[in-house]
Amino acid sequence: MSTEVSDLSPTASLRRNFDELSPETTDDVEKKKLLWGVPVPPFVSERVVSWIEEGLQEPAVFFKDTLVLKKVENVRMIDRYNSKNASIGTLYLTATHLIFVDPEANKETWILHMHIATVDKLPLSTTGSPLLIRCKTFLSVTFVIPKERECHDVYVTLQKLCQPVHIKNLYCFHYTSSNEDLPKTAGWDFFRLETEFKRMKVPCEQWSQCTLNQNYELCDTYPRQLYVPTEASTAVLMGSSRFRSKGRLPALTYLHSNQASICRCSQPLSGFSARCLEDEQMLEAIRKTNPNASYMYVVDTRPRINAMANRAAGKGYENEAFYENIKFHFLGIENIHVMRTSLQKLVETCEQKTPTMSGFLSSLESSGWLKHIRSILDTSNFIASAVDKGISVVVHCSDGWDRTAQVCSIAALILDPYYRTIKGFQALIEKDWLAFGHKFSERCGYIQTDPKEMSPVFTQFLDSTWQLVQQRCDAFEFNERFLLTLHDHVQSCQFGTFIGNCEKDRLDLRLSETTFSLWGYMANHINEYINPLYRPEMEESLKPNLAPQCIRFWRGMYSRFESGVHPREPLGDLLLASRDHCTSLEDHVQHLTKRISNLKNLISKSARRFQGPSVKDNKEKEEINDNRYNYDKKSGQLTDTTDHPLKSTDFSFSNLSVSETKEEVKGINAEMDSVAVDWKSMRNVTVCSCSTPFDQFSRKSHCWKCGEVFCSRCIVRTVPLPGHDSGNPVPVCRACFRSLQQTTP
Ligand SMILES: [Zn+2]
Ligand SMILES: [Zn+2]
Repeated sequence: MSTEVSDLSPTASLRRNFDELSPETTDDVEKKKLLWGVPVPPFVSERVVSWIEEGLQEPAVFFKDTLVLKKVENVRMIDRYNSKNASIGTLYLTATHLIFVDPEANKETWILHMHIATVDKLPLSTTGSPLLIRCKTFLSVTFVIPKERECHDVYVTLQKLCQPVHIKNLYCFHYTSSNEDLPKTAGWDFFRLETEFKRMKVPCEQWSQCTLNQNYELCDTYPRQLYVPTEASTAVLMGSSRFRSKGRLPALTYLHSNQASICRCSQPLSGFSARCLEDEQMLEAIRKTNPNASYMYVVDTRPRINAMANRAAGKGYENEAFYENIKFHFLGIENIHVMRTSLQKLVETCEQKTPTMSGFLSSLESSGWLKHIRSILDTSNFIASAVDKGISVVVHCSDGWDRTAQVCSIAALILDPYYRTIKGFQALIEKDWLAFGHKFSERCGYIQTDPKEMSPVFTQFLDSTWQLVQQRCDAFEFNERFLLTLHDHVQSCQFGTFIGNCEKDRLDLRLSETTFSLWGYMANHINEYINPLYRPEMEESLKPNLAPQCIRFWRGMYSRFESGVHPREPLGDLLLASRDHCTSLEDHVQHLTKRISNLKNLISKSARRFQGPSVKDNKEKEEINDNRYNYDKKSGQLTDTTDHPLKSTDFSFSNLSVSETKEEVKGINAEMDSVAVDWKSMRNVTVCSCSTPFDQFSRKSHCWKCGEVFCSRCIVRTVPLPGHDSGNPVPVCRACFRSLQQTTP
């Protein structure tokens, strides 16, 4: 049995690479030798070190503490929106990034090697040799290098670095998270398959956990924990697994509250006439778990003609004559090769130098991309509506790890509001993409592999999700940046989360010990992904409108680098900032109101003590507390301590005792200093004070104490502000955090 299963493994070639791998421990990294008398940074692998030693005789060059493998001066960078005004600067290649520095514009462009999809040498021009770099993030940029020889060097180096031969040279094994202050363990234990099924109230009377795959004996690309009908015997499970491509038997992936379920599997090995009694019993057992319907659907996501062609290879689809009580449907999503070509055409559409309206539209049309997105949504919606009506569905495509993953997860997203939360969406990816074995390594081309295995299957899943978000922005907790971050980090290999092709691969690679988890990183940045329009009380299935005019081109994904000089401010970010600002001010008002009533008590107490009149002073103070005073001020003077309405000079404690006065004034000053009344506008802020430029991708954040705009790296801590009544911790910048620590003992 076990040999048979391992022969079925789709990852044989990748496995060979895994077997050669012995991930470096921290000790190894620390023991690393010196290169030209300088300690080699930990992210530079041994391989790169020896390669540099062999290849280069020149002394080491560094860029901001990072060892530079190659440096080329007088390079011109041309992006297609700016072809007339090329920037001129220096190109650096480090072990992990390509960095272009334009000293005149004070601008740095960083491209992660793992993000590079293709490098092409273009015909020589009068200014030098152009190198066109296309990224998996849909950035495309041309560098013109003066000398042909140097251009060739850069070309060869990039080829080596952007798609390593060995999996251990992927970025995640060298990434050190120096900016994040995160332990390596963060995020790896966020999602457990058992927990997710427990949430769906599984196991239950109808569904049990199957122990046959504890060591991946039944199917090595499936998770160890499988949930199957309680009624299905071991013989039925094993028989059904043998009759399914790659052993991927029908297993539960989603149970709705009405007992209708979604099960997923691969195509049956039915050929033209073969049948398998156990497989037929398996499907009948699944149907019976739902007592409310006399039949169930079997959905083959492929076009009918593809499924028919597969019969010649001994595969195919279920014969309705053999399977009782099923209704069989073909739903016509094209295969990975069609999708790969479609994305290539879409990229070309977005790269047109001076697109005319008809040129753009006809190119978009001929890419077929929107049609494919719609067919995925259409199939998912068919499944979701069936389940919503109380009818269970069994879904498969060929191997059940591409189209099946897409439609099972989108259907669940339509049905279950939990999956529309940040945590729920991540749990959905963990279940339907990671546990059930989507071949991320091959589909995204992490290491050198058959280019025909690459396909934008996960990108299409994100695109389909985005289409739903467009239609119902109040139903999703997350924003567009959340989807883009997921997309880019699936490609970046910075985290171990998506490395490998299935759960077994990730265990074999010991990724949870040797790499960081994307979920830990995202939890650290959670406020960047919040959709301010989300209404969590919406507990219902979505009813997406899939009319052709509702399917849209996702400019924020495929054309996001066209924004030009000024970065865009997403509306959601502005809304969030306004909301935060209001929260801060209300909290401050609350605090000041209490303060004033305390002061009144104090003053009347002291008035009694001195028997002097103080009522007039008190009145004046209240009148001054008027925000109009502040609205006229310029934002540049924000930090000036005289700004606060309560800080006018005639604010007097002359009637109090000296010690009381000092104490009060000191306290009130600190409290008023601690809350910014005005917040700087996010508009036209192009650079953070730490000199990190804001691009269309980075979130701008306010410091609640000084009201200035910072990048997310500069907002280091959340602390309670003395001027807030609630005592809730709020984000502050580094400088403000330090000053707060000095004033509060
Ligand atoms: Zn600040
Ligand atoms: Zn910053």
